[in-house]
Amino acid sequence: MQPGTESETVAEARRQMEICNACRYCEGYCAVFPAMAMRRSFAEADLTHLANLCHGCKGCYHACQYAPPHAFGINIPATFAELRHESYAQHAWPAPMGRAFERNGTLVTLAASLGIAITLILVAALQDPAVLYSAQTGVGAFFRIIPYWLMVSLATLTFGYGVFAMAMGARSYWRATGGMGGSFAPAPAVEATVDILTLRNLGGGGHGCNDLDEGFSQRRRHFHQALLYGFLLCFAATTTGAIYHHFLGWKSPHAFFSLPVQFGTWGGVLMMLGAAGLMHTKIITDPGPVSRKVMGGEFAMLGLLFLIAATGLLLLAIRHTGAMGVMLAIHLGLVFAFFLVMPYSKMVHGIYRGIALLRNAKEKRTRTTVAA
Ligand code: SF4
Ligand code: SF4
Repeated sequence: MQPGTESETVAEARRQMEICNACRYCEGYCAVFPAMAMRRSFAEADLTHLANLCHGCKGCYHACQYAPPHAFGINIPATFAELRHESYAQHAWPAPMGRAFERNGTLVTLAASLGIAITLILVAALQDPAVLYSAQTGVGAFFRIIPYWLMVSLATLTFGYGVFAMAMGARSYWRATGGMGGSFAPAPAVEATVDILTLRNLGGGGHGCNDLDEGFSQRRRHFHQALLYGFLLCFAATTTGAIYHHFLGWKSPHAFFSLPVQFGTWGGVLMMLGAAGLMHTKIITDPGPVSRKVMGGEFAMLGLLFLIAATGLLLLAIRHTGAMGVMLAIHLGLVFAFFLVMPYSKMVHGIYRGIALLRNAKEKRTRTTVAA
């Protein structure tokens, strides 16, 4: 696509929004329709904002008298899912990596496989087999398999790259869509933070989403909450482990009832539950309001998160046996691969949706009609 030209998805989203803006039947369904009603026309930046504000609850599809097979063919959840996907590619850093979103499922699967293979080869090359395959116990057991300096260097490089690339993408998205839509104000920031932490918008108009069909449920919201809070607990496990190591001089492996192990254990259980539940929901859902184009990448990322959690828990279970070394290499390979593909995967949706929620909270307060 040439710079400055619009994609077919943008044109299709505008066509559908213009029909919705005349109809307005779905105004009470979610944040998107009131935000739409504040606009008289839809520039690409507006449509990108509205698409990222959409949480894919599918309520509007099941309510719509103009949904397929009607000639208007209104399908907001599928069209907005494709537009969100295009926005992820458009704002990827560095720009050529935007192409990674075209075959996202393949990229994530390849990265995970390579992550495991490279870490295993590295460990086998560096380590005496007598050490690698024998039970390691006591303080510093993990670092007898993978030296501390190597583990920290790989984690810092891959995590640092992932966070920097995501920050650059967020900066590009913020500039293209107008960011918060004005100067910073604390009240909208608080509201957006609460929306993110509770995933309130995955509750539809309050009674739930149409997760599987026209019946309402909180299924997807609850699995998504499990995944989000599991992920945050695992992050807390790593952070407390680093504090123990650097500030208190307590080296891993830690006791089962220590903070890092408890955070990691419950975080891992929640992540597995959330990722498996979301994959199952995607498999059994009505395919009508779903975009097949984006499914491969979503399944691959959920699969990767599930495997990271599962190998972390397995590592805990077998950490006093001779299998610990191989499991540690597999787990770390998956984690490093995750850090590297984060900016080119569904993981960016959290940032773009957060910016969209922030802007929406601000717009609701100013109640200005945004002219495109
Ligand atoms: S999705 Fe359908 S029913 Fe809802 S506002 Fe749009 S056109 Fe109207
Ligand atoms: S799918 Fe749900 S969140 Fe998205 S526009 Fe329709 S009602 Fe709103």
